[in-house]
Amino acid sequence: MRRLRPVLLSVAALLAAGIAATAAKADGPTITPVSLHVTTPIPFGVNCGSFNILWTADFTGTNITFYDGVFLEDRWRIGEVGAGWQSLMMALQDEHSAGFSPHLDRLVERTESWAASPGPDDGAPIDKEDVRRRLIRAATDLEVAQLLEVRSTYMVSIGEVPVAEGPMGKLFSTEAVVRHAEALTAMVGPDALRSRLDPTALENGLIEHALRYSLGMTIYGGTSEIQRNIIGERLLGLPREPR
Ligand SMILES: Cc1cc2nc3c(=O)[nH]c(=O)nc-3n(C[C@H](O)[C@H](O)[C@H](O)COP(=O)(O)OP(=O)(O)OC[C@H]3O[C@@H](n4cnc5c(N)ncnc54)[C@H](O)[C@@H]3O)c2cc1C
Repeated sequence: MRRLRPVLLSVAALLAAGIAATAAKADGPTITPVSLHVTTPIPFGVNCGSFNILWTADFTGTNITFYDGVFLEDRWRIGEVGAGWQSLMMALQDEHSAGFSPHLDRLVERTESWAASPGPDDGAPIDKEDVRRRLIRAATDLEVAQLLEVRSTYMVSIGEVPVAEGPMGKLFSTEAVVRHAEALTAMVGPDALRSRLDPTALENGLIEHALRYSLGMTIYGGTSEIQRNIIGERLLGLPREPR
């Protein structure tokens, strides 16, 4: 009987599919060869062992549980037998390359819409130079984020793996959303803090949502520190951090 290691990958990586990794050797060397299968949820009534978080910041917190007595058909296998780690790495590489510029795009668009509406003192906020400057800074970062993402997409389209270019896009776009959500909230003032369910919320609460949501973006899919490690090691040739 083979011991199965069903691994639940992150939603972004493989659309919430259940992924089962079958270990070729239960008590092998440090890295055991595994094969990956797509699977339906594991049925109740089988032996379920311990629950661990297999990877953290490096590999986005994939969960691992151990089962005995589960059989999977080989037609559900992804990749070659024993090459499961490579298949997993491919999905994680995609996740490390996720682009977040659409969030910044919406934030800039909605803040601009707020700024263009007349305020209580007749003039619109956008008439003020400071407001225009902050919007321009955010729009400029949006342009950079989009270009970085387009480069990764282009590389994939010609069969190249954006090993460091993907993380550059993820790092830049997520940190830009944090930076500008903070700056634009400060500019709009307390009115920006009413959230979506409040009917008086500005721009349907999008600015408030961006302020909260942006912090998570710099964590999931590989934290900013991990993205910097990848860029440093894989693109700049810096030494690996001591482990
Ligand atoms: C909103 C949200 C949604 C999420 N969704 C999913 C999901 O759908 N699926 C899923 O599997 N996971 C998900 N996660 C989990 C997420 O992937 C992990 O939180 C992330 O990988 C960080 O792991 P950790 O929280 O264990 O932090 P840790 O690994 O404990 O890291 C703690 C801190 O140490 C830093 N650090 C860790 N290792 C290093 C290193 N080698 N070098 C430099 N700095 C380092 C990290 O950057 C971080 O600042 C989600 C998290 C959030 C916040």
